[in-house]
Amino acid sequence: MQNAIAAPHNRRRLRSIHITEDGPLFGATHKRADGKWIARHWGGQLDGRRICDSVKEATDYLTESFHQMFPEHVCAGRCRG
Ligand SMILES: [Zn+2]
Repeated sequence: MQNAIAAPHNRRRLRSIHITEDGPLFGATHKRADGKWIARHWGGQLDGRRICDSVKEATDYLTESFHQMFPEHVCAGRCRG
């Protein structure tokens, strides 16, 4: 698990890491060539993404969808973002 946190297997720009009871959940955004932003989160069983118009929309989506999926989650020292 430590390796997964230190070196996620893709190079998208990491925005957040939450250590959940299912393991680490990563959130990342990256800009497409056409100017749209992709928000993606993955970890465990999850691999979801959304196309957004701005980086703010993308990061808001990551934050909101995380809290919908893990409403009981309280960030601890190993979380980021
Ligand atoms: Zn957290």
